[in-house]
Amino acid sequence: HAKTQGGNQFCFNTPNQNMEIQRIYQLEMKLRKALENREFSVVYQPLINLTTNQMVGIEALLRWNNPELGTVPPNEFIPMLENLGLIIPVGKWVLYEVCSQMKSWQEQGIIMERASVNVSPIQLRDKSFAWELKEILAETQLDASYLELEITEGTILQIKDSSDTLSSLKEIGVKVSIDDFGTGYSSLSYLKKLPIDTLKIDKSFIDDLDADGEFLVNTIIHIGKNLKFKVLAEGIESINQLLYLREQKCNEGQGYFFSKPVNQEEIALIYQQINRSDLPPRK
Ligand code: C2E
Ligand code: MG
Ligand code: MG
Ligand code: MG
Repeated sequence: HAKTQGGNQFCFNTPNQNMEIQRIYQLEMKLRKALENREFSVVYQPLINLTTNQMVGIEALLRWNNPELGTVPPNEFIPMLENLGLIIPVGKWVLYEVCSQMKSWQEQGIIMERASVNVSPIQLRDKSFAWELKEILAETQLDASYLELEITEGTILQIKDSSDTLSSLKEIGVKVSIDDFGTGYSSLSYLKKLPIDTLKIDKSFIDDLDADGEFLVNTIIHIGKNLKFKVLAEGIESINQLLYLREQKCNEGQGYFFSKPVNQEEIALIYQQINRSDLPPRK
C-alpha cells in the first residue's frame, strides 16, 4: 500500500504544487502582455554621497503592476522575464525611460552625477546591446557619462568575455558598477583588471553590521578602495549603520534610511530638499 502511494506522489503533483504551477502559468501569460499594456513603471532610489550628504544620483528599479495580480515583486518577475526572453525588450524600455527621465531632470536644473540601471546577463550577451544602447543615448540626447549600468558580481562571473563586454561599454562612455558585491566569488586580481567605477556592497553585509559584522564590511571597503573603485553601501536602514559607514570612509550609500524607491516627481522634491538646502554639509 505504502509503495503505491509513493508511486502516486512521484507521478502527480500535490495540490500545493499544482497551485504554484497555475500561478506561474498565470504570471507568464500576463507578463507577455505587460509591456504593450503599459503595466511597467520605473521607480528611483536616491544615491547619497556620505561625505557631503548630497544626492549624487538614483538607481532605477523596475515595477510591474497588473490590474488582476496587483504588484508583483521584481525578484519574482525578473527571472521570468529572463526565462521568457522578454528581458531584452523590457530592458530596452527601462533604459529608454531612464535616459529620457534623466534628460528631463537636467532640463529642470536637477543635475545628478548618474542614473544607475540594472542590466541582466541576457542583455549583456545580446550582440546588438551596445549598438542599441548608443541609439537610446542618441535619441534621448543624454550624455553617456550620466548613465551607469549595474552588473551583479554573479553576472560578471557568468558571461565568458566580461572584460571585452565591459570595455565596449566604457568605449560608449557609460559608467559601470558591480552590484551585490560580496555574494559571488570573483578573484580580486581579475576584478582589478576590469573597468569598474563603483562597487556596491550587498545589503546582507550592511544588515550584519547590527550583529558584529563590522570587520567584514570594513574589509570590503578597503578592498574596493585599494582597487580604486568608488564604494557604495546598499540597504542602509539605520543611523548606526550610516555612522559606522561614514566613519569607515565608505563613499556612498543608499537605503530606506534616506529614502525608499519613489516616482520621478518625488525625486525632484527630494533633490530640492537635499541639494538645494543652504545648510552646510554635515562634518
Ligand atoms: P538590486 O539591484 O540589488 O536593488 C536593490 C534592492 O534593494 C531593490 O529591491 C531596493 O528596493 C531594495 N532596497 C534598497 N534599499 C533598501 C533597504 O534599506 N532595505 C531593504 N529591505 N531593501 C532595500 P527591488 O526594487 O525589489 O529589486 C530587486 C532586484 O531586482 C534588484 O536588486 C535587481 O537585481 C532587480 N531589478 C530591479 N529592477 C531591474 C531592472 O530594471 N532590470 C534588471 N535586470 N533587474 C532589475
Ligand atoms: Mg542594483
Ligand atoms: Mg544591489
Ligand atoms: Mg542587492
